[in-house]
Amino acid sequence: MTKSNAQAPLTAAHPVRVQSMTKQYPNGKLAVEDICFELSPGTFFVLLGPSGSGKTTMLRCLAGIERLSGGRIEIGGRAVAAPSIHLPPEQRELAMVFQDYALWPHLCARDNVAFALKRRGVHREEARRRAEILLGRLGIGALCQRFPSELSGGEQQRVGLARALIGDTGLLLCDEPLSNLDAALREQMRVEISSLVREAGTTTIYITHDQAEAFALADRIGVLEHGRLVQLADPETIYAAPATPFVARFTGLAGELAVRIAGRAPTGEVEIHLDAGTNPVRLLATPGEGLDRHTGAGLLLVRPAAVSLAEPGGTGCQLLGKVTDVAFRGVGYEHAVVLVDGTPLSGIFSPRRARRGDNVGVALRPNGCLAFAAGTSTSSTAIGR
Ligand code: ADP
Repeated sequence: MTKSNAQAPLTAAHPVRVQSMTKQYPNGKLAVEDICFELSPGTFFVLLGPSGSGKTTMLRCLAGIERLSGGRIEIGGRAVAAPSIHLPPEQRELAMVFQDYALWPHLCARDNVAFALKRRGVHREEARRRAEILLGRLGIGALCQRFPSELSGGEQQRVGLARALIGDTGLLLCDEPLSNLDAALREQMRVEISSLVREAGTTTIYITHDQAEAFALADRIGVLEHGRLVQLADPETIYAAPATPFVARFTGLAGELAVRIAGRAPTGEVEIHLDAGTNPVRLLATPGEGLDRHTGAGLLLVRPAAVSLAEPGGTGCQLLGKVTDVAFRGVGYEHAVVLVDGTPLSGIFSPRRARRGDNVGVALRPNGCLAFAAGTSTSSTAIGR
């Protein structure tokens, strides 16, 4: 933690290696399949996917709560799960932060945290002293003596986080720890988790279905779809070069346009033609993964950052539409627009407020407009990207 509170770590941050991890439940459901990834020590890895994509199953397999059906997991260079190996959670040198806090109801905040150290052989008084320091660091030092039932959700989650971090275990697993908190507290806790975990240097695997949380926290993001890892990359790459339309949709689009792909421009961008309802429009876009030399029917996926409002008929105006919604966002306004051909676009940011019903121009930038061939499979085997 901070220099003045520093304790010699009991364990250094662990590397993690997962090979062909597969889990089939007894009812036959193949929840995760052939998952492969490697994390260097200290990486903050976020597993992102919709409900039912296999995030919890993966985390439970890593923790040792579930047995693998196939594959291998190494934590800190040691096999903890393999065809003939299954170490229980307490032998894996990891700590967990849970969605529902999972504190001992009969222990006060300090003893909930100290318990994790006492289990590792640290003397009771020393464990309590260190627990108090860490709870103070998390802003709830004054609440040390309170029981979980006397703490708010955010305070309980801070206790949960302190309990997971105090032992300096080499791997931290986080099961949607912010999902039960309200929006303002979620943002505050996100910042606290990010800074505490990075200060501690722990390798972290964090699951969420919230792309904004994933982008804000992660060094690396793994996107899960139907139990398969469809892309593994840093947040910037996932945003700029999603491996599939599914990844693009799940990580935030303003909208989708049916287009014709005419060919490559000399700059490497893709030349797009679309019938915008009034007159044909030509645009440049970024080639999506696997587009190669495809021409013909295409799909243009538009990131919110690639679209802006323009004066109808003015320079930069490529498409025409009508404003259907305006939301004030503090630093400016987010608009929803329906184009004259009926295509909806949303999340269009402007510092200027347009009114509902206004006719507006829409400008698209090539960077953030991603062209895929029409009918591109939503799945991919782009593991390891
Ligand atoms: P997520 O955490 O992304 O919502 P889960 O890992 O909970 O996904 O679930 C992945 C799939 O496995 C889902 O289809 C879910 O219904 C199924 N599943 C989860 N737990 C079990 C179980 N114990 N037995 C059978 N199927 C399960």
